[in-house]
Amino acid sequence: MTSANPETRTFQAETRELLDLMINSLYTNREIFLRELVSNASDALDKLRFEALRDPSLRDGGQELRIRLEPDAEAQTLCIDDNGIGMTREEVIENIGTIARSGTRAFVDELRKGQDSEEGNATPDLIGQFGVGFYSAFMAAEKVVVETRKAGEEEAVRWTSCGDGEFTVEDIEKSQSGTRICLHLRKPDTGEDGEPAADAQDFTDEFTLRDVVKRYSDFVSYPIQMDVERTEGEGDDKKTETRTETINSMQPLWTRAKAEISSEEYLDFYRHVSHDWQEPLGTIHFRAEGASEYTALMFIPSVRAQDALDPTQHHSRLSLYVKSVFVMQECEELLPPWLRFVRGLVDSSDLPLNVSRETLQHNRQVGRINKRLVKKVLEALSNLSQEKRAEYSRFWVSLGSMIKEGIYMDDAHRDELAALSLFQSSAGGPPKAPSEDEATETDEVCPHGFTMLSEYVGRMPLAQKAIYYVTGPDRSSVENSPHIEAAREKGYEVLFFVDPVDEWILQRLHTFEDKPLMSLDRGAGDLEEEEGGEKVEEKKAELEPLFQSAQESLDDYVKEVRLSSRLRSSPAVLVSDEGALSPQLEQAFRAAGQEVPKQKRILELNPSHPVLEQLTSLHENPDKTRFHLFVELLHGQALLAEGSSVPDPARFARLVTELMAPGTLTQASSGSGAEGQGDAAQEKAEDGSETALAD
Ligand code: ADP
Repeated sequence: MTSANPETRTFQAETRELLDLMINSLYTNREIFLRELVSNASDALDKLRFEALRDPSLRDGGQELRIRLEPDAEAQTLCIDDNGIGMTREEVIENIGTIARSGTRAFVDELRKGQDSEEGNATPDLIGQFGVGFYSAFMAAEKVVVETRKAGEEEAVRWTSCGDGEFTVEDIEKSQSGTRICLHLRKPDTGEDGEPAADAQDFTDEFTLRDVVKRYSDFVSYPIQMDVERTEGEGDDKKTETRTETINSMQPLWTRAKAEISSEEYLDFYRHVSHDWQEPLGTIHFRAEGASEYTALMFIPSVRAQDALDPTQHHSRLSLYVKSVFVMQECEELLPPWLRFVRGLVDSSDLPLNVSRETLQHNRQVGRINKRLVKKVLEALSNLSQEKRAEYSRFWVSLGSMIKEGIYMDDAHRDELAALSLFQSSAGGPPKAPSEDEATETDEVCPHGFTMLSEYVGRMPLAQKAIYYVTGPDRSSVENSPHIEAAREKGYEVLFFVDPVDEWILQRLHTFEDKPLMSLDRGAGDLEEEEGGEKVEEKKAELEPLFQSAQESLDDYVKEVRLSSRLRSSPAVLVSDEGALSPQLEQAFRAAGQEVPKQKRILELNPSHPVLEQLTSLHENPDKTRFHLFVELLHGQALLAEGSSVPDPARFARLVTELMAPGTLTQASSGSGAEGQGDAAQEKAEDGSETALAD
């Protein structure tokens, strides 16, 4: 073998830290490195199998796809060899020089904490759980050599590292495509007497390897082969021969009866398919018989898997098997995109083995499978929301936005999805992470800070006709917003839609269980109508000229000034038209670089607030200077009360100061940029003939 074009590179900082932690800690379950490497090899075989459907020449001579374990006790090495897809030089550098996962930083910090703590051994489990993949090789090896050749390519490459911060890559020759990973094993842990510790594992020992494979990788659908030596006969007839044995049963887990599969086996399988270290929230395993026959094994993760954060990942994550043979990963025809957090597979008995993506799209059978899978997942989620509310709330915080995406996109399932959704509400406190104790506490009104719509409807007083909600940037601004004063006084519960995607679902979700969803920060507000609005009508006519002047002075921001039926203690509130963009959505569009016409809002005044009396008397004064300043202040106050910011904070501050110490606006503002509706007042103030706000 010759080598050329060598190059030395350094690991990215987080990778280096992670390696350092793994090498310098003591592990009790080092063996998981084998699970990770076998799992990678199995993925590489899956990929080759899939690519070869398109281009059969990729499989060198159509050889059997397999994984080989090659231990060498004398050299203390263990090689894991696969004839899968392999990697190019660029791919090796990209894939095994960096950990591109989000959450790695937090994980490294967590590990460090574990290592620094007194027990120090919180670490190994974490590593096993995180599924550090390839890097776990360094738990067992002091040096790792990867030789790989991409299927269909001539060039091969060798990657070498001692896990000390650097790795080298060089071109080599390799006769077969695929990947061979050789571990130069570390010396076994020694006890105080310098002898190998009793539980030290020898990863060149046939029986150790058999054990580990059986435990973690038995169901891998490719043979995991190993050469074993067997001695037969006695005396002179004694013969030692080497033969190749397959050490996994290859029986796919999902083909076994549910009752015979232990929860550990499901968990190991989940980790195998998802690379997620947490336990799944739900497992769905069923066999469909009749018009089409198939088995589905699906997992609902408990929280968002790391790669679900990848914004490019927008389709289903289920793999398709035909008669237990892997055909395709991420088969988007099996589940809608909003269920892309579901992991697992479908194994069909009737589809042809050479099925392509194109034929799947038009296949009626696949359409039926999709329908049934969605139904099963929604049923499972519904049960989980009833039976495991604490875990479900945690799931919701992490993955609820995908369900909400479904509410927006999927007409057929909108109602079911709305019924599965959790919302914050005025009837409960802010969401809190469910702790062990709270997990059993299910009788509070909004467990863990969330209510379901059905629960809200169940609590509605008879007089209440609608489901009331308010949207806003966060809980604390909507909770104290003037918009909800009247509803609160009537004892009506208000839902807080504070997740940015809520704005979208509200465009599609208009009723729930025949009750309309009604915004308290948009439209006319119907709260007063229930008890007759004549009072308001009368006053309206009387105040029309005042509204007109106020609107003129706020013309840049406000399209109408009117009386409000939704206020109790606040003097004023800003509302939007029915169907208008909310200020948050408007801002989001702008941030995304989209042109949005400026939305003017409506300023509503509280008919029974003393401020309105004050305004009325200021308005009667032929000189409207103070009236305009008051209106400007009121507008700013209404913005702050709903959690928005004022257009010119410095000017607003000056207006407030002027209110507290009349005359200061005159001194402070000379030459500064007061503008807009305050200009007239300002000029007046500057000529000294009167102070702006003083009586
Ligand atoms: P993960 O498997 O979770 O993506 P790893 O660190 O284990 O993370 O592997 C990183 C990447 O390296 C894999 O996604 C894959 O692209 C590549 N890789 C690892 N092992 C192999 C292999 N045996 N054959 C081909 N590619 C591999």
